[in-house]
Amino acid sequence: MSIKVSNLTKYYGDYLAVDNISFEVNKGDILGFLGPNGAGKSTTMKIITTYLPPTSGKIDVDGLDVEDNSLDVRRKFGYLPEQNPLYTDMYVYEYLDYIAALDGVPQEKVVQKRNEMIRVCGLEEMKGKIIGELSKGFKQRVGLAQAMINNPEILILDEPTSGLDPNQIIEIRNLIKKLGKEKTVILSTHILSEVQATCNRVIIINKGKIVADGSPQELQSRSKGQSIVTLEVKNNCDKNALTSQLKTIRNVNKVEFVKDTDDSFIYNIYGEKGIDLREVISNKVMEQRATLLSMQAKQSSLEDIFRDLTK
Ligand code: ADP
Repeated sequence: MSIKVSNLTKYYGDYLAVDNISFEVNKGDILGFLGPNGAGKSTTMKIITTYLPPTSGKIDVDGLDVEDNSLDVRRKFGYLPEQNPLYTDMYVYEYLDYIAALDGVPQEKVVQKRNEMIRVCGLEEMKGKIIGELSKGFKQRVGLAQAMINNPEILILDEPTSGLDPNQIIEIRNLIKKLGKEKTVILSTHILSEVQATCNRVIIINKGKIVADGSPQELQSRSKGQSIVTLEVKNNCDKNALTSQLKTIRNVNKVEFVKDTDDSFIYNIYGEKGIDLREVISNKVMEQRATLLSMQAKQSSLEDIFRDLTK
């Protein structure tokens, strides 16, 4: 199934949360919505799944306008919302039976479907427990189970691995990748390694706008136009003077102060592709009578692009 989002905009009162975004996703795509907190990811997902009306713009699912066909379209979606609205006083199996019936699973198949989801999401030992008594990770698995129980063609997962431990994260990522082969998946995350591990496509969203769209590899290669040197100096020097001096170096595009540790200052210095800036940086450090602790040249990563685009 394909989803086409055209010129989507959402205001909360005067506040512009989603600013005229357009994109398309197709079957077999696992699209990662990546952005800092407050970027507009959840809002976009709520609108796509028809839980929130847009201020303007349009969403088509396989050519059907979502607003005009919201009931039909809703059945095609499995949705894991950010605040997983589980009924906390129900037993796990009881809740899944309830959701299955609500989602139109035929009555004679409800138990079979529920047991399948319990197995797939690793909930066997929890199925007889009250949801409110589960850990966050297991609640998240119940949320995933309910999203997938009617075998939806489209899965919209808002922060699917939040609150999971590292082993669970790997399991859920593998599950999403498996599902993604036959379905259309959109997931949101603010964790970069998540999109690198799971998605074949990334949309970076910041302050309600799309700032990048491509495969993780494409985005990474786009930024290979820069060299980056990470510099650590002892914090007994004049930080502002050093920053200004670093900025004067020929072929330096940007000097970013990364952080202050207990005894050092750390910078990222971005320069023209293919130029090794280390020698001239170390000269500048000496001129400023600063103590050089370490210097590393590296290729820019998806993390650098993300920081660059969302700062
Ligand atoms: P994300 O999922 O990327 O963290 P959200 O879509 O939740 O971002 O939020 C985008 C912006 O809209 C944030 O600034 C948030 O505070 C604001 N926002 C979200 N929901 C509401 C709401 N119901 N009323 C007013 N503002 C909201």
